[in-house]
Amino acid sequence: MDFDLVVRNGTVVTASDIWESCDIGIKDGTIIAVGPRLPATAGAQEIDAEGAFITPGGVDSHVHLNRENYVADTYDTGTRSAVAGGTTTVITFASQMKKDASIIPVIENYHKLAKDQSYCDYAFHVIITNPTPQIVEDEFPRMVDEYGITSVKLYMTYKPMKLLDYQILDVMYSARKLGITTMVHAENADIIDWMTQHLEQKLMTQPYHHGTSRPPIVEAEATNRVICLAELMDTPILLVHIPGGPATKHIRDAQTRLLPIYGETCPQYMFLLADSMRKGDFEGDDSSAMFCQPLSYLRYAGAKCVCSPPIREDKSDQDAIWAGIKNGTFNVVSSDHAPCKYNHPNGKQRGLQHGNLPYGKFRFIPNGLPGVETRVPLLFSGGVLSGRISPQKFVEVTSTNPAKLYGLKKKGSIAPGFDADLVIWYPQTKFQPFKLTNEMLHHAIDYTPFEGIEFKNWPRYTIIRGKVVFSHGEVTGEMGYGQFIQREKSLLPGPRDVWLNEWRP
Ligand code: ZN
Ligand code: ZN
Repeated sequence: MDFDLVVRNGTVVTASDIWESCDIGIKDGTIIAVGPRLPATAGAQEIDAEGAFITPGGVDSHVHLNRENYVADTYDTGTRSAVAGGTTTVITFASQMKKDASIIPVIENYHKLAKDQSYCDYAFHVIITNPTPQIVEDEFPRMVDEYGITSVKLYMTYKPMKLLDYQILDVMYSARKLGITTMVHAENADIIDWMTQHLEQKLMTQPYHHGTSRPPIVEAEATNRVICLAELMDTPILLVHIPGGPATKHIRDAQTRLLPIYGETCPQYMFLLADSMRKGDFEGDDSSAMFCQPLSYLRYAGAKCVCSPPIREDKSDQDAIWAGIKNGTFNVVSSDHAPCKYNHPNGKQRGLQHGNLPYGKFRFIPNGLPGVETRVPLLFSGGVLSGRISPQKFVEVTSTNPAKLYGLKKKGSIAPGFDADLVIWYPQTKFQPFKLTNEMLHHAIDYTPFEGIEFKNWPRYTIIRGKVVFSHGEVTGEMGYGQFIQREKSLLPGPRDVWLNEWRP
């Protein structure tokens, strides 16, 4: 056997198995052999894993880059950050605006933004905000066949994005025929608007009250509603970024009834609580604090953790998320990396620019957090090494399942024929635990919501298609190495041909 790279003496983990003292032989970017004591090849590079865990490269299937209107990560900084945290493939969003009459130029535009910019492999989902007949009937088939995009995301909230139930059915009708997976951001838009209005009347506008405006019934109601729509249409959907117990229960119940309903959650809902949005609040009533003064940055720090759905109040919600990962309700854990700078008038400080309240208005705070670099290490350190989940479960939710669900056939496992995308961890005895600071990260954002959390390990090497792109804290890969991946259809169960009545789509 003839290799370019041999990784020796690892503890190789897949979604099903663990092999100790195992070597991995790689040729032309592909894994061609896995087993003990592989033969040496003259001229091949060798890496000694020293017995440490080797896991498949992370697949982060929920990443927002080049967000319009915000100071955020672009393809270069976002994917640089990804590889430094053991993620080797990102699925990012090409986002249709309501005004866009066609999604084809939208996809082309995102190709331009990503081309020669990415450090890791990448693919696209398309966000649908205006599902005209032309788009769902004529352009969806082109999206799948010509562009290799086999999933769409839709929103049930946010005025500029949201679809009515009628429009959701239009999307699902076409998605079913084409084998597309529909991702849904499920929150009840009217409850949020009504609550926001009434909280403002009571001057309850601090960052923390972003969460008050969205109690757990907001996502529970919308989750249940869209599961009903999917059942009518007999089509697979994924509920994205589930934050707590009540929505999790709806997903679990649907899965127990064998509907093709999939669930996603994110590290912020596993490791943070809503208290993080109180930071800096209630420090007196100094209305002279303007957004450009340091005092107000402190006062306003809760804005750093504003995302939707919000991080939940109660430890029991966090426990429900961990239980949902263990019992299989959550098929994937993604980052929902949707960052914007904190210390910038066009970032989180936007919330301070409306009215004269010293703590601003939460409704104007851009939603979203950075997390593409911390996702894999957080789950490994705070999940596997803390004894909450098995190494195999970690691989399943961070790599294997997202690859299968979104038709990335050569990603997500360590086996002959798969792309040689690997994370080699430190041997536990050689790793000095540390507390995270934002300076250690490689994104273009000036904070991390996970500041101060202790990490008991971190990727020592990240390898993409046989090339070391991150080693001992340094990004060694090049911008532009990452390739666009044309995806296949989902490899997980789809429509069942089970119907509510005589009607068939
Ligand atoms: Zn969302
Ligand atoms: Zn998102």
